[in-house]
Amino acid sequence: MITSASPAQPGPAQPGPGTAGARRVVVIGAGIVGMSCATFLRRDGHDVTVIDRLPPGEGTSFGNAGMISPDTFTPIAMPGMLRKVPKWLSDPTGPLAVRWSYLPQALPWLVRWIRAGRLDRVEAASKALRALHGPAFATYRSLLGPDGFNDLVRLRGQLYLWQTGEPSETDRIADRLRTEQGVRADVIGPDEIRQMEPTLAPGFKRGLYLPDNGSTANPHRLVNTLARNLEGAGGRVLRAAVTAIDIGPDGVRRVETDAGPVEADIVVVAAGAWSLRLTQKFGVRVPLETERGYHVMLPNPGPVPNRPISHRSGSFSITPMEHGLRLAGTVEIAGLDAAPDERRALILLEQARKALPTLNAEGMQTWMGHRPSMPDSLPVIDRAPGVPGVFLAFGHGHTGLTGAPVTGRLLADLVAGRKPVIDPTPYRATRF
Ligand SMILES: Cc1cc2nc3c(=O)[nH]c(=O)nc-3n(C[C@H](O)[C@H](O)[C@H](O)COP(=O)(O)OP(=O)(O)OC[C@H]3O[C@@H](n4cnc5c(N)ncnc54)[C@H](O)[C@@H]3O)c2cc1C
Repeated sequence: MITSASPAQPGPAQPGPGTAGARRVVVIGAGIVGMSCATFLRRDGHDVTVIDRLPPGEGTSFGNAGMISPDTFTPIAMPGMLRKVPKWLSDPTGPLAVRWSYLPQALPWLVRWIRAGRLDRVEAASKALRALHGPAFATYRSLLGPDGFNDLVRLRGQLYLWQTGEPSETDRIADRLRTEQGVRADVIGPDEIRQMEPTLAPGFKRGLYLPDNGSTANPHRLVNTLARNLEGAGGRVLRAAVTAIDIGPDGVRRVETDAGPVEADIVVVAAGAWSLRLTQKFGVRVPLETERGYHVMLPNPGPVPNRPISHRSGSFSITPMEHGLRLAGTVEIAGLDAAPDERRALILLEQARKALPTLNAEGMQTWMGHRPSMPDSLPVIDRAPGVPGVFLAFGHGHTGLTGAPVTGRLLADLVAGRKPVIDPTPYRATRF
């Protein structure tokens, strides 16, 4: 049996005011969401063990585009998007693919996704995403400390680029929502685009510079740093596959793993796209689907852009990182178990070459990951309904790197029973 012992050393902070008392907490999932939750829970003085079948940050959090985007808060389903779907699906190089054998399983989620694109729902979801994303940098600074933050986070803004001159209906709504929230966003034309990013090929007609967005130098190292810091502060990271959460009449008893049971008073399910496999048994049936995404990593790319670029016409990102240039994006609806389709990654390279003709692909690596996606683009951050001691933190979809730090704070507040850092209502598990 693996039994959680008392912390070997004191954590970075003693239990805060209003904390219900130190408990044995198991966080399932060592991705960016689980590690953010674990860090704040340890700061509250809890005895924290993070369990993952992989080393920290080797799930979906390994391979994202690295964009940290406090000023990006529109959901994925937007008015006008449905009209684009048939064109995307009929184009093998388009940003969306569905494996037809998986369609019957995904259909209920897709129907909810379409309904989430109604304007009133988009406006409500945007407010909730803004609340979660807005404090991302301040909260990363708190998570990492000033040196870790300066090492891992880049504050160079982001550039959105379009090949079309006229904004779409979706673009106009996003513009309005940004204006309403007072976001700094500079509209730029082809000349300014060339000045800011001389490595880009001509052909971009429109740009938007978001100076208050940014990126991480390396998403994998970011999660690893949190894991190392947690261990340094007396928490534990355990490599094991969780097979079940054992619930007794009074709540959580232990977590069963392939390396033996781990005693727990509180369990946080932060298992990303796999979370329902652990929670379905006790009745948590929220609509979680995986939108699979791909990346191509170019270790020797040649001249690269000065800042992360969101290629809005191609629906993919180009992010300079400390270990090369990352091209990331595409959505593939094919479930958790199907093998990756490398062609989806190669499409990213093909598209990026049109924007950056000097790209050198020597030594490139491809990757596929599972975005944990809710149809309304809002994660679930909540107590598990009717199961005392179990908490939920998953479903961050396309923006989990951005939403993770505030999720961690909110989750620690919910465990402590103190006033939450943001209103938890929009992220409730019972909203469906
Ligand atoms: C191509 C792509 C680009 C993206 N770009 C961005 C971006 O630029 N900005 C942004 O904000 N977001 C981005 N995202 C989204 C972001 O990466 C995810 O939302 C985020 O990584 C989810 O984190 P997580 O901790 O919930 O999941 P994960 O990182 O997947 O962590 C969950 C962990 O749970 C573990 N686990 C699951 N089941 C078990 C079990 N039974 N036992 C033990 N362990 C288990 C898994 O091994 C995994 O490590 C992107 C995603 C993709 C795919």
